[in-house]
Amino acid sequence: MKLLAGKPGWTAQADVIVIGSGVAGLTTALNIRAGGLSVLLVTKAKIDEGSTKWAQGGIAAALGPGDTPDQHKKDTLIAGAGLCDTAAVDVLVTEGPEAVRKLIARGAVFDKSETGEIALTREGGHLRNRILHAGGDATGAEVSRALLAAVQGDSGIQVIENALAIDVLQSADGTVCGVTLHVIGAGSKDGVGRALSRAVVIATGGLGQVYSQTTNPSVSTGDGVALALRAGAEVADVEFIQFHPTVLWRDTNVGGQQPLISEAVRGEGALLVNDKGERFMLEKHPQAELAPRDVVAKEIFTQMKESNSPHVWLDATCNKDFATRFPTIYASCMENGIDPLTQMIPVAPASHYASGGVKVDLNGRTTIPGLYACGETACTGAHGANRLASNSLLEGLVFGARIAADILENIPAQVQPREESSTFLLSPAIQLPLQLAMSQGAGVMRSESSLDETLRTLEQLSTRTTTEQNIAAWEVSNLYLLAVAIVRSAKERKESRGSHRRSDFPDQVPTWQKRIIQRLDSAGHWHTTQEEVK
Ligand SMILES: Cc1cc2nc3c(=O)[nH]c(=O)nc-3n(C[C@H](O)[C@H](O)[C@H](O)COP(=O)(O)OP(=O)(O)OC[C@H]3O[C@@H](n4cnc5c(N)ncnc54)[C@H](O)[C@@H]3O)c2cc1C
Repeated sequence: MKLLAGKPGWTAQADVIVIGSGVAGLTTALNIRAGGLSVLLVTKAKIDEGSTKWAQGGIAAALGPGDTPDQHKKDTLIAGAGLCDTAAVDVLVTEGPEAVRKLIARGAVFDKSETGEIALTREGGHLRNRILHAGGDATGAEVSRALLAAVQGDSGIQVIENALAIDVLQSADGTVCGVTLHVIGAGSKDGVGRALSRAVVIATGGLGQVYSQTTNPSVSTGDGVALALRAGAEVADVEFIQFHPTVLWRDTNVGGQQPLISEAVRGEGALLVNDKGERFMLEKHPQAELAPRDVVAKEIFTQMKESNSPHVWLDATCNKDFATRFPTIYASCMENGIDPLTQMIPVAPASHYASGGVKVDLNGRTTIPGLYACGETACTGAHGANRLASNSLLEGLVFGARIAADILENIPAQVQPREESSTFLLSPAIQLPLQLAMSQGAGVMRSESSLDETLRTLEQLSTRTTTEQNIAAWEVSNLYLLAVAIVRSAKERKESRGSHRRSDFPDQVPTWQKRIIQRLDSAGHWHTTQEEVK
């Protein structure tokens, strides 16, 4: 099963194709290149687009005095709520410090303490100071800058921007041997083309745009997970979507990336109130507004449902230093016509991070030969049911290096692609209704009836096909596939665990300490299995 796309008008070739230019794709490309293979790195917008440059907090690694990988492992397992793959966590925490040192050797500059050591801070869920940060809250931008400089300085890595990977090419036995691409404005490589390779690495980032409110940039449409599904690969844990509780609400019809209103604003006295002006967190949790993220997100969602309002309010008017203390957030509010010094800020929960994705082993191999996945697109099992803060940049660094090592050791000969007919393409007009349905029925809180209703809406939307090929149509077709995968998995998991919360099954159930695995067959039928956690 493939997306509708025109006949390829050009061809390209490299040993390895890497799709995506975030921390995962760039790290993988650099390490493969260091082993002497040629790399074609394609990225669907400008090279620095993606979640990586937006990462604020930092990167977690057991580098501080007295800290150990074992303690990092314990914190990661607690956050993962019984669903982490312990072998994947072991790899993440033990290889993490070396991966960070390599990033520093590649030119990334982290904030230092007064004594000249790398300054390590602490975030929710970490019992040690182990978060490296850069430029205060601009860690992702520094990681992206350093890796991009290294990639752009290497003539063995060919980069094509504005190149959207549509589907993978597969040989007669299903082995992945390249990709179909749509490129805008790259001279001889314009329009639909095909690039052949001996291995393909998907590093296309998150899928936040499945929801109407998200902190993810507009490129985060989960293309890699969708193309892996169409290639027959297994996906895992897709029901586990982290929601950030307080994101600036602009309007139901405003898509794209929503600005975060950081926890620190609540930490400095801002209060959450509902439409009636009542402070609702007080009676819900001893820490009130500063309760854990999932608790706050759930209560905000409940208030929104009860008052039939698309947001609640964050009252920060008590903070007279708001403009100097939170300049970025202040600017975002002012741009949207809200003065936080005198007005309450409308906020709603927004999808923030996908803990699940394309199921991979410890070397980033998917269940399809020749196809690897890395970063937020992949599901290594290291995050389980909930990601520990600042473990995701680390995952891209660690597993990018492992994928490169595996490819360098095992790269097969080039095989030829089979001919495949492509059929499936949905109208871009379904994007907003799809996102709204997902936020309503498969978002922060789910139930059998809300998930059934969402599935019915998705079924109706799936009849709105198109033959007009463009980026919006390819992206929305991917969003649709992911939405179905998320809803199916959320329906299957009849418990609440980690970032998956069901109002009809509010408790964690020991017999559900299993992962839900899904795949699509060539006729487009879904197959679901459950796997014991290792
Ligand atoms: C606001 C915010 C704050 C965060 N803060 C932190 C933090 O402090 N610490 C932390 O560890 N994590 C944080 N995260 C999460 C972290 O940033 C991401 O999980 C991580 O950067 C993902 O890296 P990636 O390389 O997998 O994907 P991305 O960085 O998203 O890169 C994906 C790339 O794939 C490209 N792409 C997508 N689809 C296609 C296609 N079809 N064809 C070609 N190219 C494609 C994109 O253009 C992009 O280049 C934060 C995320 C957000 C949104």
